Amino acid sequence: MKALKYLSPWNVALREVPDLHATGDDDVVVDIKFCGVCGTDLGIVSGSYPVAVPGVTLGHEASGVIAEIGPAVTSVAVGDRVVINPTPYCGRCRMCQTQRINHCVNKHGTESGVSYDGAYAGQYRTTSAFVHRVPDNVSLRAAALTEPLSCVVAGARKLQPPSLAANTYIFGAGPLGLLYTWVLSLKGLTPVVIEHSPARLEFARDRLPDGTAAYASLEEARIKYFNDPQAPIDIVVDTTSMLLEDIFPQMACGGTYMSIGLKEKVASIDTMLLADRSLSVIGSIDSLHGSFVEAFHLITTGRVPAERLVSHVVPLSDFRTGFAALGCDIDGQRFGPADQASCKVLIAPGDVDE
Ligand SMILES: [Zn+2]
Ligand SMILES: [Zn+2]
Repeated sequence: MKALKYLSPWNVALREVPDLHATGDDDVVVDIKFCGVCGTDLGIVSGSYPVAVPGVTLGHEASGVIAEIGPAVTSVAVGDRVVINPTPYCGRCRMCQTQRINHCVNKHGTESGVSYDGAYAGQYRTTSAFVHRVPDNVSLRAAALTEPLSCVVAGARKLQPPSLAANTYIFGAGPLGLLYTWVLSLKGLTPVVIEHSPARLEFARDRLPDGTAAYASLEEARIKYFNDPQAPIDIVVDTTSMLLEDIFPQMACGGTYMSIGLKEKVASIDTMLLADRSLSVIGSIDSLHGSFVEAFHLITTGRVPAERLVSHVVPLSDFRTGFAALGCDIDGQRFGPADQASCKVLIAPGDVDE
């Protein structure tokens, strides 16, 4: 089978590797159909998030069909369509035992697409607890968004809105920005999305929950949505992770700023304001207890229209095109803002039309 290997920053390559087998009693081998491109992958490839082990197969947001199971597996069968939970945890370390599985100290060597061979490949091997059967009426494309949605569900748990009337702004209309819009909307908030790229803005506007809207700038959102150029800022979800210094002094009392992007950025804030205005600055990454199951529920019930957020599906052999749609020019070794109408890009190791 083919697998997309990380070698060093800007140096990734499709390599021929042996097919996988269920060598452990509880192993499950999945023929990968779709695997989403994530900000983590862009950071690894471009060298800004240097976490991947050289030689590892990238990719962690995947769905597919079970090819092989170990003798102890009873919960799924060969031929089942499944989504993969790529976030293993040991359950024994202090982080796991204190509700922080996403920071499990023993996950090195088990993190899909980072320290364990991921799913930009014909096959992926895991164990039975980490696959979930996809109902017949749900596409494997939609199912591939379960992991990013799980990260959003986990992040949304951390936000404690003072009121459902809180003014809520989401910066960035990429997959996470739109998924936050949907999840916070289901929680009763009414987020507005801010996206500078005209192409991404147009793509997003067609895919928003009722009552929400998207604008090209904070100024435009304040004037057109709230009819007030000074409209208060109660809650911010910053998917760019670049805006804290700008936004923080403008936050309303009791407000919360959440950063979820993985970018190298050092910011300073006024700690007097932090206390005096009862502000919160929080970050969120990865899944938490049960968030994967919650996300899968939202997708299988259609509460979040996951497949509509897919903008591109490209064959594995054409991975460069998929990365380029998100501003990551692998051959040119340049990373710029996405100017295409791109949102979730799926890489398809099998048939793209499946
Ligand atoms: Zn991801
Ligand atoms: Zn642990």
